[in-house]
Amino acid sequence: MPPIELNSSPASLEADTLPHSSKPFNPPFWLQVALDVPLDGVFDYRADVPVATGLRVIVPFGRRQLMGVVVGCPDQPALPPESIKSIERVIDDLPPLTPAWLDMARFAAEYYQRPLGEVMLPVMPTRLRSVAAYTSVKSGDGPVAKQLAKQAKQKKTKAHLDDVAVETVAHHQDTLQPRQSDSAQEGRVIQDIPTIDHKPSMQLNTQQQLAVETITETTAYQTYLLFGVTGSGKTEVYLAAAARVLQSGRRVLFLVPEINLTPQFAASLQARLAPYVQADQIALMHSGLTDTQRQESWVRAAMGDARIVLGTRMAIFAPLSNLGLIVVDEEHDPSYKQQEGLRYSARDLAVWRGRQDQATVVLGSATPSLESWAQAQRGHYKRLNLTERAHQTLMPHIRLIDTRRADLKQGLTPQVVDAMTQTLAQQQQVLVFLNRRGYAPVLHCSSCGWLSQCKNCSVFAVLHRDQPNKMRLHCHHCGQQTPVPKACPECGDQDLQAMGRGTQRLEEHLTELFPQARLARIDADSTRSKGSAQALFEQVHAGLVDILVGTQMVSKGHDFARLGLVVVLNADSMLFSQDFRAPERLFAQLMQVAGRAGRHQGQGQVLVQTGYPDQPIYKALCQHDYPGFAQSTLEERRTAQLPPYVYQALLTAQARELNTAIDFLQHSRDVAQTWLNTQSAPENITLFDPVPLRVTRVAQVCRAQLLVESPSRSALHQLLKAWLPALGTRHAKGQLRWQLEVDPLEI
Ligand SMILES: [Zn+2]
Ligand SMILES: [Zn+2]
Repeated sequence: MPPIELNSSPASLEADTLPHSSKPFNPPFWLQVALDVPLDGVFDYRADVPVATGLRVIVPFGRRQLMGVVVGCPDQPALPPESIKSIERVIDDLPPLTPAWLDMARFAAEYYQRPLGEVMLPVMPTRLRSVAAYTSVKSGDGPVAKQLAKQAKQKKTKAHLDDVAVETVAHHQDTLQPRQSDSAQEGRVIQDIPTIDHKPSMQLNTQQQLAVETITETTAYQTYLLFGVTGSGKTEVYLAAAARVLQSGRRVLFLVPEINLTPQFAASLQARLAPYVQADQIALMHSGLTDTQRQESWVRAAMGDARIVLGTRMAIFAPLSNLGLIVVDEEHDPSYKQQEGLRYSARDLAVWRGRQDQATVVLGSATPSLESWAQAQRGHYKRLNLTERAHQTLMPHIRLIDTRRADLKQGLTPQVVDAMTQTLAQQQQVLVFLNRRGYAPVLHCSSCGWLSQCKNCSVFAVLHRDQPNKMRLHCHHCGQQTPVPKACPECGDQDLQAMGRGTQRLEEHLTELFPQARLARIDADSTRSKGSAQALFEQVHAGLVDILVGTQMVSKGHDFARLGLVVVLNADSMLFSQDFRAPERLFAQLMQVAGRAGRHQGQGQVLVQTGYPDQPIYKALCQHDYPGFAQSTLEERRTAQLPPYVYQALLTAQARELNTAIDFLQHSRDVAQTWLNTQSAPENITLFDPVPLRVTRVAQVCRAQLLVESPSRSALHQLLKAWLPALGTRHAKGQLRWQLEVDPLEI
């Protein structure tokens, strides 16, 4: 995106870092503090000593104590001095957040329309923003002090282990430049990174080499769109570029879409970048870590000990300074968009942060988001192409299997069963992709037509097999689980039937069909316990699985060595969605899952069962033609005036009664219309009518939305800035809640 400009330049922020030198160092000192409260603006406090911006402080707020961040030190407060309270304590166990970091938070607050404190504090690890963590212990003690004491102790006991690690690294120093010897002195423990053999760097092909040269020749800001077909070795390009950036003394931020990909990625980083960075200089940040682990990573980044931060979207807020490279892998992935609280896009913030920090940004994908593709066409991003597979294997052969005249058994065509039989006979693995978890999407009474509806939501409750002989109904929206009724609640008929199939039922059927094969199922249900996803993926990688059944969890990024056949079931369900982004998501998902096949040997086969083989999206898929798909889809978007040709914001309201939500939105629309009718308001803004969401009721709460759009981003932001303060508190009385999302992904 071309981010909107903020008034504050980095230079003006630096001037604010400490009280002006012209001002005598006499108390009181005035502070502007950002607090995690749903109120706009920052809050004035006084201090007896100068406090640097970027430090945390404990302040009184009403009858409570709150943790805040000092974001400014004005000469004069905005309020009368006598009405301003004193801070209670300065927390200075970490270096102050840098002006660049504060600037990013300010940008996010302004762009996504949230109070600054609601941006800054929630992105920090829990204990670092908890008043209790600091007040319940002796003064001078706190979570950071405890962590450092623990690390110092570990340093002693692990010292001999470090020596072993240093020797291992020394093996590679003939081919690669040695790292700084002083870094070997630190002995901190790294979590969750599997130990693996250090591998020498892979030989890059000409295209990869060219990409690395181009990425690393710029030392100022530039965003590259690394468009590489599946299996083209984008990771090798990231790693080679990272090696050069680390060599120059700058730091690297890696973003990946899924927690499950971090162990694989961390292992690659450790293996390939060993000469430049120690294991304990790689910090992980994702929601699968414990509070303690997240805090450890944050502290190491803030103190400058971490040279690489690897994580999911939250890692974009890592307090890393001296950034040289930001990599966003699978940049098209919707998981980069946070769907609650501050609804930010980590990919878009990465581009902003890169420009701010004068760092290079690499967005990698085989199926880039149409936003990024359009940015490359406009020349804002530079596109780098990897058109060949790294292991010189062919792109998988994709065939459509027409289900309209096929003799389906349990949802499988005879062609699919034959192909599976042959692949298994060749000792290769099969992946069956079905993006629907559970046993069956709905339970049905054949006598009266009753369907298993969730009591709290306007969706069907999904049939799940929780244990071998125990079925239950689960609602995927509110989480409620209920026993399966013994008879139809409407007519009493005992013949209730499962309709359709999910991954559990598919697994059951495949077990009967291929009794000799070893099966594994990977979906949100089979990987609920901590570490189970990694264990399952390791089994697949180790060749202990012949048939893998999975949802989209298996489609992303994984590099399966022996996978010969991919079968795609039920892709059609996304074809006719009302969401204009559905085709883009379907295409990306199918390309991703197809790209798992035949990455290391032979030519992989992909079979897509469909009742609509003439759909253009499937034609483009068979030809691996992302550019063609992107071009025609962008053309449609331009004609229909949809993103990326317009900018959108979505106001969502939730209430017990649908009418309450709709009325609020209608009122909000009137407020916006009144503002738009004023003389100075921009003209090119469209306000749509309030409508209920597709799934209107979730957990007994009804939801409706109001879409606002404009071809001008600044016009849209002008409206939002004037509009939101007039809408009242986000948690109004009468149980009405509202949120605003800028650049919504789903409409
Ligand atoms: Zn019935
Ligand atoms: Zn429900």
